[in-house]
Parts: sequence; C-alpha cells; structure tokens
Amino acid sequence: MSIPQPANPIRTLALPGGREIAFNLRRSARARHILIRIDEADGDVELVLPRRASVRDGLAFAHSRAGWIEARLGALPPAVPFRHGTVLPLLGEPLTLSRPVNGAKRTRRIGDELMVPGDEAVFAGRVRRWLIAEARREIGTRAEHLARRVERPIRRLAIRDPATRWGSCSAAGGLSFSWRLILAPPAVLDYVVAHEIAHLRELNHSARFWSLVDGLVGAHKAERAWLRQNGAELRRYG
Ligand SMILES: [Zn+2]
Repeated sequence: MSIPQPANPIRTLALPGGREIAFNLRRSARARHILIRIDEADGDVELVLPRRASVRDGLAFAHSRAGWIEARLGALPPAVPFRHGTVLPLLGEPLTLSRPVNGAKRTRRIGDELMVPGDEAVFAGRVRRWLIAEARREIGTRAEHLARRVERPIRRLAIRDPATRWGSCSAAGGLSFSWRLILAPPAVLDYVVAHEIAHLRELNHSARFWSLVDGLVGAHKAERAWLRQNGAELRRYG
C-alpha cells in the first residue's frame, strides 16, 4: 500500500550534544503511532508518520526524542573502514589489509594478509572489489552444488549490497546475495545459500520449505541466530 510522501522528506535535528543529524520523514499506511527508526547498520534515522499525523506533530516528537536518538546512535558499533591495518573476518578468519612491499600491481591474498596496491584513494575500492569477487566465487560454488541437489537451474546469480536482506530468490529463478556474507562464518554462508536455493523449489516459508532447507544443510538454528546477533556488525565494514 502506498500513500503520498511528504514533499520535503529530508529534515535536520539538533542533538543535545551539539551535533546536527539529517533524518528521513516517511508516511506509512501501516504505522499506528509516530515512531523513530534507527538503522543499526548505517545509523540512518527515519521518522515514520501514520496516515493522519501532521508533519508538525512528527517533528515535535523527533525533537522530544533527541536525547534518546543521540544515545542510540552513540551505542552503535563503530564503522570499520577499509584501510591499511584493518582486520576483516574473512569467512570468520582474520584477514589483515596490508600494502605490498614489492611493488605488486594486483590485489592478492598471501596467507592471512590481503596485499592491496595503490594509494589511499583506491585502497578501499580495491578491497571491496576483491571481497565481492570472493563472495561471488564462494557463493557461486555452493549455489551450483545445491541447485543440482534440488534439480532446479539458477537463472542468474547477483552479488549486491542490500540494506536489510542477506539473500533473495525471484520467481524467475534469479538469486541475489549480499557480498557481506563473505565476512560471516562458513556455516552461516552455507545456510543462507541453502535457504535461497530451497526457494527455487518452494517460493514460500512453508513447512515443506524448511524441511527442504534441513535436507540441504541440516540444523541451522545457530546460523540464523548468528545473523540476528551479528548482522548489523557485518554492515559496518567498508
Ligand atoms: Zn526465505
């Protein structure tokens, strides 16, 4: 259901500590009350208005909650930028971002180090591209293997950076995964791939779907719990 959105959705709010933040104003057909949402992954703040609430009441509410917003933003885990010395959990194992000493031109993994050539300006982009390629390889191998087991073809496999989902499957057989899964333990990656592959047969979350997932990866309660507890952390990288 969609309803008309405010003409000027981006507003600013002064926090008690002196910092000013921008937030998004959104009208929701489903919201019962004015509410504030904070995206744990990137710290984006959103003010959600029910259909009949006035923008003025919404803004007054945001002002009255400025202290709470500041506390919540302050409690978020800090962002982890891709730079020299950063340690990433590649498939759950530490991988240190380094600069090659020998003038190598290509990004290359040597043991537990990722050697990234080039200056500050290109470093993060190269790390990200390398991680996306790694994710494509690791996810692709698993997906092909499991697709044969459910006897369904994969029409398309995309690696993206969605804000909230780890994977998705379309009715046309297109699969999409977050590259950030490459920063999760292998069992978690196995579970998410099995989940989406199972959707190639069952495009729902019925009992039949879950027993198919069980058949592909076995028990997966711990992996789902891991994603709930650590998902926001994975979105802080890069
Ligand atoms: Zn699903």
